[in-house]
Amino acid sequence: MIDLKKMQVWFVTGSQHLYGDDALRQVEENSKKIVAALNEAEEIPVEVVHKPTLTSPDSIRQLMTEANTDENCIGIISWMHTFSPARMWIGGLNVLRKPHLHFHTQFVREIPWADIDMDFMNLNQSAHGGREFGFINTRMRKNRKVIVGYWQDKEVLEEVGAWLRVAAAWHDSQGAKIARFGDNMRQVAVTEGDKVAAQITFGYEVNGYGLGDLVEYIDAVTASQIASLIEEYEAAYTLTDAVKAGGAKRAALEEAAKIELGMRSFLKEGGFKGFTTNFENLTGLRQLPGLAVQRLMKDGYGFGAEGDWKTAALLRAMKVMNSGLPGGTTFMEDYVYNLDPARSTVLGAHMLEVCETIAGEQPVLDIQPLAIGDREDPARLIFTGKPGPGIVATLVDLGNRFRMIVNKIEAVEPPADLPKLPVARVLWEPQPDLKTSATAWILAGGAHHSVYSQALTESFVEDFCEIAGVEYLLIDENTTISEFKKELRLNEIYYSTMPRL
Ligand code: MN
Repeated sequence: MIDLKKMQVWFVTGSQHLYGDDALRQVEENSKKIVAALNEAEEIPVEVVHKPTLTSPDSIRQLMTEANTDENCIGIISWMHTFSPARMWIGGLNVLRKPHLHFHTQFVREIPWADIDMDFMNLNQSAHGGREFGFINTRMRKNRKVIVGYWQDKEVLEEVGAWLRVAAAWHDSQGAKIARFGDNMRQVAVTEGDKVAAQITFGYEVNGYGLGDLVEYIDAVTASQIASLIEEYEAAYTLTDAVKAGGAKRAALEEAAKIELGMRSFLKEGGFKGFTTNFENLTGLRQLPGLAVQRLMKDGYGFGAEGDWKTAALLRAMKVMNSGLPGGTTFMEDYVYNLDPARSTVLGAHMLEVCETIAGEQPVLDIQPLAIGDREDPARLIFTGKPGPGIVATLVDLGNRFRMIVNKIEAVEPPADLPKLPVARVLWEPQPDLKTSATAWILAGGAHHSVYSQALTESFVEDFCEIAGVEYLLIDENTTISEFKKELRLNEIYYSTMPRL
């Protein structure tokens, strides 16, 4: 359901007429070579579209206006091959509403020492053309990404590719629909928030549905649909004896398949990109949707439990960024600590809903009792998340603004088997250590829900916040509590100068 190849970024080259037609022809040719190289690079996830060199205020404003309304255009990459007097760009930058990457590169890598003359100098002026362009963006207080380096370098291509994934997630978020089955878990604070402000800030809309609306879709599921979905389960997972054909809990697995099929058709028909459930709102459902939620997340849907629409939308955005990259991304909750003095860790899980994309092994499919929810025993996939570096990200509503908090983590192998724990889980060590991480997270008001990713780094989330104009806090190996508190206090002043949208 996520296809980055259908998206385009427009490559825009800045110059001026001062240098004559020959120079402009050369600029155009060089710009096309860079675009061709970007399109060939495996790091670049979307199509890069070359646009004619811009040399006048009118052509710049017109192109930016077209970018705003083009359905497939996720943003602009701008490059100053030569000097391009930046007052020409004011009108265009004033109207541009899409994400903007200022690519500060130079067509030739090295100076040809023996041959360099004034013609060469005039043609290859990115070094100061890019600074003139940078000034006007800063003067106009425009959020944009700046990437510096040679356009053929792998590291630079990776940086451009990562930003394009973020721009793609932003594009995907505009007009996205998140469905809520029921409301928030009663009396929970952090999953609340201003849906109007979220729509203005992030572009997605959140709408509630009664469980009866979903039950109609579940009731319409046929026996043959259930049989073929269970064949899929049998191919993808290790089924316990209880849920195998003829097993004692086979009927409950069929019920879980029916719930998945009903949810899928509801979400597909409504064009939803994410959804929430709530174990307190299950009227008409015989099980809490566990397996269904896990499998829908795997396919790219955003999800938040207990009505948590902010996390559902964030997970969807991070699924878009993640598309095609190794490593998974999932809804997560800090569940239990292991307070080993040598290495304190967090056991992350949820009642059921963790996405199998982070699994280190083939998941086990089983039916087990659930202590809460007052329903029949639900189906779930059971696995342990694979070791390696990752991040957890949370978005909270502070009343006057949204705040994103990211913590770098390292997932580790549990020191022993967990034979009696029938849910998906992952054990991680937060950076710089559990004590500092949890102190900072709690002081910042971070939620117990988060998005966990082993595919993305913190810079993806930072770039997303930059595009959205949202506060971003990082807890990593360099975090100290006294410095973190200063950042919280300074941000309080900074954001108090801005009206809530
Ligand atoms: Mn929860």
